[in-house]
Amino acid sequence: MNLTDSIREIKGVGEKSEKLFSKLGIYTAENLLQYYPREYEIVEPIRPISEVQEGHIVVIYGSLLNQPKLKRVRNLKILSAIMKDGSGQIQVTWFNMPFLQKTLRLGTHYILRGRVIRKNGIYQLQQPKILSQEEYHQLLHKLQPVYPLTAGLTNNAVTKSVKFALKEMEWNGDYLPLELRKRYQLIARKQAVAGIHFPKDKEEYRDARKRLVFEEFFLFTLALNQMKKGKSQKMSEYPFSDFGKSEELENNLPFALTEGQKRTWCELKEDLRSGKVMNRLIQGDVGSGKTIVSVLALLACVENGHQGAIMVPTEVLATQHFQSFQEYLEPFGVKVDLLVGSMTAAAKRKIYESLEMGTTDIVVGTHALIQEKVRYKDLALVVTDEQHRFGVRQREGLWAKGKEPHMLVMSATPIPRTLAIILYGDLDISIIDVMPSNRLPIKNCVVGTDYRPQAYHFMQRQIQEGHQIYIICPMVEESENMEAENVMDYTENLRQLLSPSIRISYLHGKMKASEKNLIMEEFSAGNIDILVSTTVIEVGINVPNATVMMIENAERFGLAQLHQLRGRVGRGSAQSYCIFMAGNASKETMERLDILGHSNDGFYVAQEDLKLRGPGDLFGIRQSGELNFKLADIYQDAAILKDANEAAKGFEKKDILEMCKKYQGLRERLLAYTDEIFL
Ligand code: ADP
Ligand code: MG
Repeated sequence: MNLTDSIREIKGVGEKSEKLFSKLGIYTAENLLQYYPREYEIVEPIRPISEVQEGHIVVIYGSLLNQPKLKRVRNLKILSAIMKDGSGQIQVTWFNMPFLQKTLRLGTHYILRGRVIRKNGIYQLQQPKILSQEEYHQLLHKLQPVYPLTAGLTNNAVTKSVKFALKEMEWNGDYLPLELRKRYQLIARKQAVAGIHFPKDKEEYRDARKRLVFEEFFLFTLALNQMKKGKSQKMSEYPFSDFGKSEELENNLPFALTEGQKRTWCELKEDLRSGKVMNRLIQGDVGSGKTIVSVLALLACVENGHQGAIMVPTEVLATQHFQSFQEYLEPFGVKVDLLVGSMTAAAKRKIYESLEMGTTDIVVGTHALIQEKVRYKDLALVVTDEQHRFGVRQREGLWAKGKEPHMLVMSATPIPRTLAIILYGDLDISIIDVMPSNRLPIKNCVVGTDYRPQAYHFMQRQIQEGHQIYIICPMVEESENMEAENVMDYTENLRQLLSPSIRISYLHGKMKASEKNLIMEEFSAGNIDILVSTTVIEVGINVPNATVMMIENAERFGLAQLHQLRGRVGRGSAQSYCIFMAGNASKETMERLDILGHSNDGFYVAQEDLKLRGPGDLFGIRQSGELNFKLADIYQDAAILKDANEAAKGFEKKDILEMCKKYQGLRERLLAYTDEIFL
């Protein structure tokens, strides 16, 4: 079997599984082998029932104290029973497995493995697997891969397919030169791929991961270095000379720019005047006020007679930016338009025309801005906001449109400067390091679910004072295999619980874009008091009147993501609050969340999280989706990033093309980062 073989070549994968795999982006054997486990489960030895702890996955050995009882709650069938061993007893529940009622016998001993939760103050073993003695001994102390799945595809099916591919694969060589592997102590590719899926122990996992992370960073920096060479010192077709209107806008803002904003704006002006093509990154924590700086630059772009574009990752954000850009820019006679995927074909065509004619000065949009059909008359400045949602490649997509425009990238991901210099090797960096001074720091608290009544009480008071509230749930709808709050039921319950005068709406990613926009508009306009939402509101949304954010099941999110979410409040002059509600109150969970409770500084949060988890942590939640790395995490793997960057130096384009010829799949992997040099 070869890496490029179709997934159909794998034993047991038919038409149906092929479809399911394609949903996960898996078409070839190589895609499958690069579909890494989300985490691993370790099967630990049997534990006395009296010693189980909340939040842990445990194995217990005992017998039934009573006949299991079946009850229905909405569309769930819940089977529950009490298990006992010599040390104590615990309640056990299974969802939608009614048949177990008949198979489980009083008096028989069972080995059960599942997660311990606490409900109404009582410990419960939830949805445990029943293991035979043999299974238990086979699994004991072993790391079991847990893959991200899609409905219809089981973990077992993915595991089997990966095993088959590993067994049958013919590896021809390794594209990391042996000399590099020796210098950085990296194991061979074949070994690493096997080790990441089925590590014998933590040691093997770490070695495998190290090699694969190195490889990702190495290929990435190789591609980036080539891109940088092509880019640096390019003369621009669009030198700007006039900044009068930007100055006027700056002087008439309802606030004074912070020092960081001023410095950044000066750096931008220098670039734009210089006669060279600008390639600049603005980095600033959530709420530091990056948007207004881009508004100033785009206004200058129009004043100098050109078009500008700003690209954002979601339609909700595009719509919001569109409105505020209109407010800022229309008084200067600037024509601002919106272009997003959900617009009708006719509406899009109108925008395409006016972009080509030059009647649109500034266009705000999503990926729709880089579709084939879009042509610009005179595109001189491209801004991408919340850059971490776009790969470098997409950034370059816009680039290819006109003569080479100036590029401005804005990111809220707190990356230490030394790493930013590598990751954004092709960009100059400006940093906005202070928050606007009218802000009061957000007050945080980390609590368990028993705090909910108090939280609701507090929210009602905030609403009386005219403020608005976000509540975040991890899921859209109820799910069988995950115990967590969902937007639909939560909204329903909240409506029953709170006074009918309180206006409650919901928002989630499965809604139509037009519905989402409508809700966001209503929320911005102050017509909704409480917005229950999934993380779709995570990126960039700005409603300064919102003063409370409550995050349900906060333990299910990464700290960096929680920090981003929290950035939706504390944007106005009123005191804001963030309530992190932990669905399980295990010590580890509370410790991790407490980092957010103590600090509002994104850099600090990222670093402390790392200290707590330590590098190579098997169970860490990934910090950032930065730049589409599959396995690598720029925080956790900072040291490897530096090594890989070092190793990539000195590789020339011809070396890379040579490597691509020898090793199948390598070209595609480089293409994931940039299409500039390898086409
Ligand atoms: P982010 O950097 O997260 O994109 P925004 O640009 O959305 O932040 O700014 C957040 C809020 O702060 C906006 O309401 C904006 O008008 C306001 N703002 C920006 N700069 C300042 C400033 N210097 N003083 C006061 N408020 C500001
Ligand atoms: Mg923003």
